[in-house]
Amino acid sequence: MSISSKAKAVKPFIVMDVMARAEELERAGEDVIHLEVGEPDFDTPEVVREAAFEAMRSGKTHYTHALGLLELREEICRYYQREYGVDITPDRVMVTNGTSPALLLLMMAILEAGDEVILSNPHYACYPNFISATGGVPVQVRTLPEDGFQYRSEEIQKSLSKKTRAILINSPSNPTGIVMNEEHLREIAEFSSCWIISDEIYHGLVYEGRARSILEFTDRAFVINGFSKLFAMTGWRLGYLIFPEEFSEVMKNIHQNFAISANSFVQWAGVAALRHAWHEIEKMKATYNKRRVFMIRRLKEIGFKIHHEPTGAFYVFADAREFCSDSFKEAFNIIDKVKVGVTPGIDFGSGGEGFLRFSYANSIENITRGLDRIQEYFAARGRC
Ligand code: PMP
Repeated sequence: MSISSKAKAVKPFIVMDVMARAEELERAGEDVIHLEVGEPDFDTPEVVREAAFEAMRSGKTHYTHALGLLELREEICRYYQREYGVDITPDRVMVTNGTSPALLLLMMAILEAGDEVILSNPHYACYPNFISATGGVPVQVRTLPEDGFQYRSEEIQKSLSKKTRAILINSPSNPTGIVMNEEHLREIAEFSSCWIISDEIYHGLVYEGRARSILEFTDRAFVINGFSKLFAMTGWRLGYLIFPEEFSEVMKNIHQNFAISANSFVQWAGVAALRHAWHEIEKMKATYNKRRVFMIRRLKEIGFKIHHEPTGAFYVFADAREFCSDSFKEAFNIIDKVKVGVTPGIDFGSGGEGFLRFSYANSIENITRGLDRIQEYFAARGRC
């Protein structure tokens, strides 16, 4: 009659704890500035919301095919063809309630107990939990600030074992905002003894150059993507997985059993997003980019070190080691003392210690006020 060890092993997602503290302070009447959040501050484009209303009004409120509405899967295939020139077919796409469940079901589909998945350290906070919960073993490869926290192939090579099932990549990256270039993706794709899992959820939010999909370089890959970030649709819960053809039957069975299907009217909203929201997306992107440039400049003025300027997602991963060594303690001190939410680097693994992640999914006015307060905080507290 006790909680399973598997359940107890799931670590907290610290940024959510920072947000909870922020909300507590707000309820007590404090003016909190949110630079911790990992979600767009924009509303979902009107055309997408209208499509959901219309779907509900016209009774599109039933289960859909387990892999997702054919119309949506076709739209996703067209999007990957347009953006990356890759040919995928709808039977290789599974639509899920967010990318998070797609990740979990994918791990379930490829891992036997004890199988290993290579991931970078630092990495998106939740990754190790998906791997462990499905019986796998996360194998963390240290990546360095001077490399923009990008993998070095020789380090991956050293971590490969007979049990390696997959290498996980995430570009543009959370927490670093760094975009992998073509050469680097090609190098990763050459590890052909295992799968490559490419989390492409920040694709589209790239401000210099463009992101390339792993599918341009190898077919031995799974792609995770979704609507949360690019289309400002976090609360809708809509994501998808692209997989090699031989997984079609198995993914359908898994989804039929564990989810039946993703929400039907939300899927119709997804169709509208991929067809009609691009003008809105361009406007959001232009705004993010202005904030990005501004935030990088201000963080440098304050004294943070930015080893590689981020060109994607909406994060700056700032080296705060001049100021602090315990990022967890510091993040909670910052919110309590100057009421600014920031995410401690340790949330992303031991390799992120001494760093703070700042999100620019907030207005220039709020970023200005937030960073002014951070400057005052460190001026009063001094360097360590
Ligand atoms: N991958 C990365 C890198 C993320 O940052 C997030 C959201 N923070 C997700 C996956 C999950 O996104 P969702 O479940 O909202 O689609």
